[in-house]
Amino acid sequence: MVRLLLSIKADLENVTDLVPASDGFEYFFQVKCNSCHEIHPKWVGLNRLEEHEVSGGKGSTAHFVWRCSTCKRESSGKFEEKSPVIPYSADNNGQLAPFLTIDCRGLEFVGFDPRGIWKCIGAESGTVFNEVDLDEGEWVDYDEKAALPVGVSGIEIPRVATDIMRYRVHLSGLLLLEPRGVFDPTGPGFTYLHLVHVHSALLKT
Ligand SMILES: [Zn+2]
Repeated sequence: MVRLLLSIKADLENVTDLVPASDGFEYFFQVKCNSCHEIHPKWVGLNRLEEHEVSGGKGSTAHFVWRCSTCKRESSGKFEEKSPVIPYSADNNGQLAPFLTIDCRGLEFVGFDPRGIWKCIGAESGTVFNEVDLDEGEWVDYDEKAALPVGVSGIEIPRVATDIMRYRVHLSGLLLLEPRGVFDPTGPGFTYLHLVHVHSALLKT
């Protein structure tokens, strides 16, 4: 299992604390099979409320269960209950910040589409914007209390797949040196929180 901490980047205009508006928010990703490295041609959706049974998992469930059409292997992804999504603050404007933790078995999420309803608050006024529709990838409005235009654009969770492949090689060496450390490749948009998990991933691939 690999615990992925996906980072997000956005351009905020006079707003802060951007986050999906509800628990049922559907996250759309591109998914890649770790067995045959095939990237599924369609976007896949998962949310925190719906779980599906994992084959042979003795009743265990995941928020996303997928069988690769090329190699027929099943893989899954699960949101971490203990790790709620982290609102994107204006302090991080235009830069990557930790966002969402997903336990991945046999797959990787390699692209993100922000479509759906988000919420944020006016950076100066505290005005709550509950209907930030990012279906088109950006949103603009006006904050009357602050008398300022507000907006969200440029949302991105950078592709991580190729970087994971590259870092695996380096990690096999790092594990021996610092098994309890935290490895953060930075920039590519993800962090392996615990090398213990990375280790099990290494053994499988
Ligand atoms: Zn496959």
